[in-house]
Amino acid sequence: MLSTMEKVLFVAAAALAFGLALAEFIRKLRLIQIGRKTDRCDRPGQRLARAAVQVLLQLPVIAQRPVSGFFHAFIFWGFLVFLGVTLNHVAEGFAPQFSLFGHGTLYSVLLFAANLFAGLIILAVFYFFVRRYIVRVKSLERPSWQSLTVLCFILILMVSFIYYEAFKMTLPGMPATPANFLANLAFAGLPAGLAAAPQAAWVQALWWLHILVIMAFGVFIMHSKHLHLLAGPVNLFFRNTGVKAEIPVVDLEAQERFGTPQVTDLTRKDLLDLFSCAECGRCDDVCPAFQSGKALSPRTLLDKLKQHLLESAPQLRSDPDGVKKLFGEVVSEEEVWDCTTCGACMEVCPMLNEHIAKIMGMRQSAVMMESRFPEEFQILFRGLENQGNPWGINADSRPDWAKDLQVPLLAEKGETDILFWVGCAGSYDQHSQKISRSLVRIMQHAGCNFAILGAEETCCGDPARRSGMEYLFQMQARQTIETLARYRFRRIVTACPHGYHVLKNEYPKLGGTFPVVHHSELLHELLESGRIQLKPASGSAAMTYHDPCYLGRYNGNYDIPRRILERLAGGRLPEMAASGKTSFCCGAGGGGMWKEEKSGRRISHCRLEQARETGAGTVVTACPFCSIMFHDAIAETGHEEMKTLDLAQAIEAALA
Ligand code: SF4
Ligand code: SF4
Repeated sequence: MLSTMEKVLFVAAAALAFGLALAEFIRKLRLIQIGRKTDRCDRPGQRLARAAVQVLLQLPVIAQRPVSGFFHAFIFWGFLVFLGVTLNHVAEGFAPQFSLFGHGTLYSVLLFAANLFAGLIILAVFYFFVRRYIVRVKSLERPSWQSLTVLCFILILMVSFIYYEAFKMTLPGMPATPANFLANLAFAGLPAGLAAAPQAAWVQALWWLHILVIMAFGVFIMHSKHLHLLAGPVNLFFRNTGVKAEIPVVDLEAQERFGTPQVTDLTRKDLLDLFSCAECGRCDDVCPAFQSGKALSPRTLLDKLKQHLLESAPQLRSDPDGVKKLFGEVVSEEEVWDCTTCGACMEVCPMLNEHIAKIMGMRQSAVMMESRFPEEFQILFRGLENQGNPWGINADSRPDWAKDLQVPLLAEKGETDILFWVGCAGSYDQHSQKISRSLVRIMQHAGCNFAILGAEETCCGDPARRSGMEYLFQMQARQTIETLARYRFRRIVTACPHGYHVLKNEYPKLGGTFPVVHHSELLHELLESGRIQLKPASGSAAMTYHDPCYLGRYNGNYDIPRRILERLAGGRLPEMAASGKTSFCCGAGGGGMWKEEKSGRRISHCRLEQARETGAGTVVTACPFCSIMFHDAIAETGHEEMKTLDLAQAIEAALA
């Protein structure tokens, strides 16, 4: 079909396109290599298998947004089919009537699949066009020219394929086949004059159009956000398989730089994340900071880091130390402090990007290298350092909440079955003390053998760590590990998911491994074993459950509190629109409890509104900090008709 000159032109164009794409690929790869190495190659076979399944089945893309996800998957699966079609397309240019797949069943199946996916892909292109440019869904409200270009490329590829096949039918020896059903339709729609005579020129022109668009697409992908087609699968391979949003332990003795002052301090995985982002906006859709009108948009944060990396590429070679600081220069201070570390963005990201690691890196460098943090943190850090609690209340008064409850101290007992880790809120905050008291009374009612540390307990270190003050975190964590190591107990029980997460998942990296359970697990166990029994559900006002981020998303405990509450509420447990994995933070996490929200709506007010929309009169949670946020939100918004309870309080009220 192609003349000799055209064949030469094709080879030259293919070599040029391949060269341009490869050069850009190598440039980006080198940029990723400036990052610090991370060890994400353990169990490579398992990683590979998992990534392959996720990519081929498009599971992360379909989860959360099934409609968009399936349309995206049609494009992906269609492109796999078109890999074969394109190879054949090239071969046909050089040898008409030749087929890499023969002319039998295999070819018919390929042709059928290509027609099917061409139709689905055209539908998908229209769907994405309407979503981005006509409906303009909120999270995609910055429609980019890149997306439009890619949609045009894809549409041209599909239409040129269909009409190429249709015009081929005008040539001698190229009969119509049922497998080519879309091309048959296109052929039937050709003007009579065109369909009646051989149309070699049209066939040739469409061959070239299809091939040139593929070449241009290949080069364009390397320069645009569509690089996620290549970077995304690699990112899935290097996923974090350890503790959720793990913060690496800083070696305070040996390190001179803390966190990520500059882009070169990010890890290679962090940099790969930037090129994996598909700018789908799912993270913004669920981010409490973004949704409440604050400066932080997790999608924009990654984009800012990527643009900075690309712009500073020349300087990275000549003067790497001179590139901008990330905190305050590339990403605004406000954005960095807006994050509640709730993990919602990471839960929904189809590329498994790790936003929190980048935010925490910037916080650590701001706090530990520049002493820059919200002014409210002065009180927090001083309180933690001097009295071992965020409020700076006398450390000796920590067990005062339990004075009238005959709660034994572990120092007096020596050993115990349950060590009740009360936590700072449970010890000092008036609302949270009620949770501690309820839990104690339930344990006493059930005849549990338990004790508390009393004044020997200090802050677990979570507020310091999430605020970027790793030094203080390590000091408190090591002190607690030392204290715990002195005693014998079967397990630690706590009502605070922050303490639970830190003690269970973060202390082991500092040498302290202890069995820790959340109070929801103990309460469920007591109910199941019959050690506590509940009055029959009264059928009073329905309850809704708010998932604490550090219990649900960080530790996967979504069901146990619900199973308990279903018993309490007689099955009436209406869910908030954002619940379970995509639950909405109360605003307290990541240091949010200790600082003012200076822009947008208060996150806790948004969450209270979501709870009210269920029609439930009570919002139950399983975290003293969530409890504080709901109490404050009810008082601030004047919705006194709403009640908030912790799981322990709800159970105590229903004890038989
Ligand atoms: S970070 Fe993930 S969820 Fe957010 S826009 Fe990028 S790909 Fe989408
Ligand atoms: S962790 Fe939560 S608050 Fe922070 S960026 Fe992600 S979704 Fe937003």
